[in-house]
Parts: sequence; structure tokens; C-alpha cells
Amino acid sequence: MKEQKDFKADDFGHSDDENIYGEIGFRCGLEIHQRLDTGEKLFCSCSTSENSEVVGSVSRMQRAVAGELGKMDLSAEFEEKRKRRFLYNIFKSTSCLVDIDEEPPHGLNNEALIIALAISNAMHMKFVDEPQIMRKGVVDGSDPSAFQRTMLLGFDGRVKVGKYDIKITSVSLEEESSRIESGNSREITYNVDRLGIPLIEIDTDSDIKTPKLAKEIASYIGTLFRMTGKVKRGIGTIRQDVNISIKGGARVEIKGLQELSSMDKFIENEVKRQKELIEISKMLKNAGAKISDSVDITGLFANTSSYILKRTIENGGRIIAFKLGKFGKYLGKEINPNRRLGTEISDYVKTVGIGGIIHSSENLDNYGFSESEKIEIARFLGIGEDDAFIIIGGGNEEVMRASKIAIGRANAAIAGVPEETRGAINDGSYTSMFLRPLPSGSRMYPETDIKPVLLNDSMLEEAKKLTPDMETELNTLEKQLGDRDTARRVMLSQRYGLYKEILNKTDSDPKFVANVLLQKFVELNREKFRVDNIDKTKVVEVFQRFSAKKITKLGIEEILKKLSEKQMDVDVAIKEFSLERISGSKLDSVIKEFKKKYKNDDVLLKKEIMKVYRLNIDGSELNSAINNQKK
Ligand SMILES: [Zn+2]
Repeated sequence: MKEQKDFKADDFGHSDDENIYGEIGFRCGLEIHQRLDTGEKLFCSCSTSENSEVVGSVSRMQRAVAGELGKMDLSAEFEEKRKRRFLYNIFKSTSCLVDIDEEPPHGLNNEALIIALAISNAMHMKFVDEPQIMRKGVVDGSDPSAFQRTMLLGFDGRVKVGKYDIKITSVSLEEESSRIESGNSREITYNVDRLGIPLIEIDTDSDIKTPKLAKEIASYIGTLFRMTGKVKRGIGTIRQDVNISIKGGARVEIKGLQELSSMDKFIENEVKRQKELIEISKMLKNAGAKISDSVDITGLFANTSSYILKRTIENGGRIIAFKLGKFGKYLGKEINPNRRLGTEISDYVKTVGIGGIIHSSENLDNYGFSESEKIEIARFLGIGEDDAFIIIGGGNEEVMRASKIAIGRANAAIAGVPEETRGAINDGSYTSMFLRPLPSGSRMYPETDIKPVLLNDSMLEEAKKLTPDMETELNTLEKQLGDRDTARRVMLSQRYGLYKEILNKTDSDPKFVANVLLQKFVELNREKFRVDNIDKTKVVEVFQRFSAKKITKLGIEEILKKLSEKQMDVDVAIKEFSLERISGSKLDSVIKEFKKKYKNDDVLLKKEIMKVYRLNIDGSELNSAINNQKK
């Protein structure tokens, strides 16, 4: 409700938010990745389509090494501790020796370069004269070579979104990573068909003022990409990572947001999480919190009736525990919807293949602990009234790694907010979970197999032709729709391409189309009709049938619902669900039929007819038909 009332065309209705977020020292930046629609990959001639068959696989492991300055990257070190094995599926027409790092890269794909330059143009970037291809360390195994090739093309650009001038710090052209086929904490299988597809990365400055503005900027940039007509479409082809911090907190990067429409909610929750962690840290410091070393308490459970611990011991594992002095009130404290400090520690432990932790703020009866076991644990660890403890069970090696990581995370809770890369949890809670520590800066080194690229005039000229002009586009839309605000909302909508296609292929009224795509689609989505999944050509057909007076306005809504539930032909659906529009002589006979009963009362006559033919008769056509019959 508030959003409606406060809506101003220029600031997306969140000038109030600006003050609130300003006060807490909110910092936010976006990293947007978009796959380009080129014929070939960035450094080889493989096709960029993803339909090919698996013809074999190779396996790799990774070892962390110090960089040239002698420093070890935290995230690389963390990954090495996990000792994961990586398998790579190789494909018939979409992978080659370059993709699995057994052959040097071929030259840079010129088509990809031109598209990236065009996008850079639209963002007013300054160009690098001689872009240098670099290797960027990749720690999650998604690249068999453990690096990704990337090149900085432009810097210091800007886009204007509403009244805001948004700084774009860099545009890079790089290789897409492999996609995960399957995996667990010990082994991951990747498909290399996606690896090496050209990808453009846009980084904004981190001075985005509110969560809602972040969402608007991401929409704007997404629209700009699509307007080139040269980017891949569909789920996963565009990815937005958000960097967030508040005063006293730490930089946290959230990856894997699936839907742009909820980006602001994820950011709001991250702000809340950091606020809560800062508060907890203050309390812990004041109380003199201290984490003790871990101890083996396997012996306490020799005759346990706890199924979970019994199984661990029977499998030759150990039970480790440690005391968290003065953590009593905080381990179970909710810091995000359904997530507690204990959950955060548990997330860390899960990265080494342990199912999770048991902690003292949980109901230990659920794990089958006896009263005497509870007393024994407390006595053994020296647990006082305000203290807490964590228990971890598992194989010898895993459990030691897990307890080290858990103690590290618990200590970080005293210090404040740890820097992390987190993954969005896409279950409707808009929360996130720990993936790995944030990578440190120095993980780039030059690619020596390929010469730097010289940007020449003909390339820049070609790019200019492809450069989308957002301002002109917005003006055209404003003329079509009558006001700038609706124009902007249509342009930033994910259905903008669909809007243009409908207008191109039908003689529909632009305002009506905009209304259906912006409001009706949202309403139907809310009612759980997945209308955005309907094949675009079918949506266009629906509007064509409406233009041809084959269905009514209400019929459009009804048929969209049906098409979202079942794959079927538009005309078949119209027939099957009796959605044909009744007009002309047919309408006249319907009126005559009803008039027998409701002769002298036009209002009642109309009402009764619409009761039966709500989806088939257009209201205004009915009015004029009734009037015509009187003449
Ligand atoms: Zn290839």
C-alpha cells in the first residue's frame, strides 16, 4: 500500500528508504553476468548451444598455491581443505581440448568482442586501448584449468536510471564456467559444454543507495543487454551477484539469485543479518566470550541411545565437542527468518561433508540424549549457566576439519561479521547461506598464450551499429503509452521483448498490451499460474486472436491460465474451453433469446446475459447490440 502512495516517477518511490539506508552505512554493488549469443565459444570453435551428447569424462583435483607475492588466497586454501574431486563431462560438438585445458586457446572470438563493445558503448565506458587477456583463479572446480580467462574492456562508465546516475566501474569479457551436473561434498561432476561461452560482466560502483534501487538498476542493465538482440535468453543466462555491507559489518557477496523481482528482499535480509550479528558481537565482547579447544567426547556415549551418535561410533567415527563461553543466549538467536547463529556455524561444517552440528540451544531430546548424558557433557566441558556447546560427529579426519572450521566461525561471531560468498536460498525465504570465504584480490595473472587485442576503428564502428539507445527507445515508448513512468516500467520489465513482438505482429493497443503484461501477468503469477513459462509465440497468438475478435478481453486471461497449466495449441484451447467470442448475428440471437424473459429491463437483461457468457461476450459490444436492436 505504502509503495503505491509514495510512488514517484523518478526515484521509484524510495526516497524515504534512502535516509534509512544512509544512516546504517549501507553499501551495495552489483556484478551482472550475461551469456552472449555468438556462434562459437570465446577461445575455440565449439558451438555455444547446449544440446549435445556426452562422449567421455576427465577427473581433476586442485591444490592451492601461493600467488607471486607469496600470499595464499583464503578461498583457495579453504577449497583445498575440502579435498573435493572434480569430474568433467565432455561433449560431442560443444567441447574440445581447449575446454579441458589440453590445448592452448585459439584467438579471441571477434563477434563476442563487438557485442561487448556495443554494450560498453551504451554505458558510456572509457575503452582500454589494448585489452589484455588475464587468467583469474577459480576455486570451485567449475573450470578444469582452475582459472577463467577474462579481459577488462572498459572502465569508468555510467547509466542513468530514473534520477540516479549510476557509476559502472568496469565491463569485462570472459569465459562462462561449466555447469554442475551433480555433486556432493566430496565429488562434483561438471558439464563443460557451457564452459567458454562468451560472458559479459558488468560491475557497478558500490554506492547503490537502497535495495529497491539495486533491483531497478539490474532490470535496466538486463534490458540494455536484451536490446542488442545478441544475448542468450532463458533461465541462468543472466546472473546477478550482489555485494552488500553496512557500517560495522563486512562485505558479503550473494550469488545465485534466481529471480530479479525478489532481489530487494534478499538484500533487506542480508542487512538484517549483519545488524543482528553486529549486535551479537557487541554482547559477546561485553560478556567476555571465549571459545575453548575441542575435545574428544566419544567415550561419554559408549552406551548411548542416541541413534545418530550410535551410528557415527559404529562407523568408526568420533564425537568432538567444544565450549562456547558466554554464548548461551546467542547460539539460538534468530538472525534471519528461520536461521540462527547456530545455523550459520552449521553451514560452515557442512562444507566438509558433515551433516551439521548439534548445539546446546536445541532440544537435545530430539537427538535421543539421556538426562545423564546431558549432565555428563556439561560437566566434562565445564559448561556454566551462560555458556553453550557444540557437538560434531563424523569420520576421524572430517570431524577434525569440521571442528576447526566451526571454532573459526564461532570466533568470528565474537569479532563481528565475516566476509563471505553466500548462496541465495531460493525457497521463498529470501535468505542465504555460506558458500566460502570471499576471495582475496590477488588472483589474476596474464594469459601468455594469447596476444593482447588492439581495438581498431572498424571494430568500434561495427560496435556502434549494435549499440542500444535506451533514451530513444524510452521516448518512443512514451509516445506509444502516453506517460514516461509506464514507458519505463514496460522497458525495464522482463516482458519487454514480448511487448515489442506483440505490437509488431498484431494491431493491439499498446496501453492494453502493457496493462496485460505488467498487471495481469503479475496477478496471475501471484495466483500460481506460471504465465511467464508460456511459449512466447503462443502469447503473441493469443493477442492475434483478440485482434481478430475471436476471443474477448476476459477470454485472454482465461486462456493464459489454461496455457500455463497445459501445453496446447491456442485454437485448440479456445475450442476446448469454449472461449470463442460471440458477436454479430450470433450475439443478436443471444439477446433475442434473453429478451423473451427480461424484455423491459436492459440492466437486468445485460446482467443475465453476462452471467452466462462472461468470457465470450464483450461488454461494450453487448451494449451497442442491445441499442441497435431497439432502432
Ligand atoms: Zn571448445
